[in-house]
Amino acid sequence: MAHNGVSRTLRDTIFSVTKPTPAECDFLVVGAGVAGLRAAIELADAGRVLVLAKRQVRDSATHFAQGGIAAALSDEDEVSLHLQDTLVAGDGLCNVEAVRVLVEEGPPRIEELIEWGTQFDRNGTKLAFTREGAHSRNRVLHAQGDSTGQEILRALYAKAKTLKNISVLEFEMSSDLLVEAGRVAGVSVIGNGGKLQQITASAVLLATGGLGQIYRNTTNPEVATGDGVAMAYLAGAEVSDMEFIQFHPTALYLKNAPRFLISEALRGEGAHLRNMEMDRFMSKYHALGDLAPRDVVARAIVHELEVTHSPEALVYLDLTHLKPDHVRQRFPRIYSTCLEYNIDITTEVIPIRPAAHYAMGGVRTDLSGHSNLPGLYAAGEAAATGVHGANRLASNSLLEGLVYGSRAGQAMRDNLRDNTSRLIATRCGTKLGLFAKVLVSARRSKRCGVSNLEPVTREHAEPSRLAMF
Ligand SMILES: Cc1cc2nc3c(=O)[nH]c(=O)nc-3n(C[C@H](O)[C@H](O)[C@H](O)COP(=O)(O)OP(=O)(O)OC[C@H]3O[C@@H](n4cnc5c(N)ncnc54)[C@H](O)[C@@H]3O)c2cc1C
Repeated sequence: MAHNGVSRTLRDTIFSVTKPTPAECDFLVVGAGVAGLRAAIELADAGRVLVLAKRQVRDSATHFAQGGIAAALSDEDEVSLHLQDTLVAGDGLCNVEAVRVLVEEGPPRIEELIEWGTQFDRNGTKLAFTREGAHSRNRVLHAQGDSTGQEILRALYAKAKTLKNISVLEFEMSSDLLVEAGRVAGVSVIGNGGKLQQITASAVLLATGGLGQIYRNTTNPEVATGDGVAMAYLAGAEVSDMEFIQFHPTALYLKNAPRFLISEALRGEGAHLRNMEMDRFMSKYHALGDLAPRDVVARAIVHELEVTHSPEALVYLDLTHLKPDHVRQRFPRIYSTCLEYNIDITTEVIPIRPAAHYAMGGVRTDLSGHSNLPGLYAAGEAAATGVHGANRLASNSLLEGLVYGSRAGQAMRDNLRDNTSRLIATRCGTKLGLFAKVLVSARRSKRCGVSNLEPVTREHAEPSRLAMF
């Protein structure tokens, strides 16, 4: 049995990697979830990319994500509606530009994922969209019913494996950032077997995911201990919005069972919340009833627990009025996991309570993943772009990992190119003057296989060619 009661049928097959730890690389990506792998793919033709995972690649929130990934791709949807829903859920505290980037770049990032082999569920040949809380349209894509993250991770990892510049090392725990002359220059790692080592790189991306494990009740996997945020903070990076933690309203609540997530998509498909007296209560708290934003639902549950003075502090999710075949087919993972704990969700209500689920805050970044420390980037749940405001809209975080992972990768490669060009320009400019700079760059261009006589510019300063400097 693995985290959250999910059996690991693929263990040690596609995710097994054993390679020695190198002392240096061009780009270091700490974290192998959706954000880290998407960034690595972006970086692959700009230099050697090393991706570190604290445990196996499958030990990530991405792998456990159930409900889906949101994007305005259906015929009835519009990007502006996705923008609006995200801003409303964020409670007025979103960075509007960050949200705009998310909803506009989301659809092409997902189309790319599909090209790389991600199998989203379909109705016939058309993509199937479901609804989750606080979405005004059916816009959530899902895979294998309720195993969306696992399918996305599989496809990203398979794509990364086709790119020879990417190495993924498992059981390498990054413990500190190396800072030289105010610039992040690598990380210290504790490898498999406890050996401490340093790895240097031109840029480091923190894609270490969330921090749910600091709470007693959480849906998060064991790796989610906020390492990236801690490392960044200790190195002097700004962190922000750390007070905004999302509690998922519906985690399985049984003695001796993990806080397995019962996806919001169940309510999207018609499941109802009921209190200890079996009354439906959500319409008292929000016009959207069972599909109100997560923070509203979680607070409503806590309030119900207080007013009903129930000896057992829990409420229920009820799917018993839905067609059993549909439930089993649409939510196979949730169905089988609950059955392991003797609950047949087609005939019995599910005992649930809120649990810590998602960190809106993290390492403060701009819209390209730059932190305030040169050489340090962050993406995914470890980052705070302001895209979620005070409360993340359901199914926006896998999307965030894709969009902002890709952007951080682009920024890291651009930065390496800029630095290399600047280094050459400085050396040439100060020592030899402008005319000599042209001659030197011509000579170097020959060495690099560039045939014209122009000074070295950004376009010519490809990092792999310039590694000799
Ligand atoms: C049960 C569950 C269900 C969810 N369902 C959905 C959903 O349906 N839709 C949605 O959009 N979002 C969902 N989420 C949220 C979403 O899954 C995460 O926010 C997202 O996957 C985070 O991706 P990430 O790449 O930032 O981090 P992760 O996927 O968590 O990956 C973090 C990586 O960092 C590595 N790492 C951590 N610390 C270190 C260290 N010190 N050294 C080296 N490596 C380290 C880990 O090993 C891991 O590889 C769900 C979350 C959970 C827990």
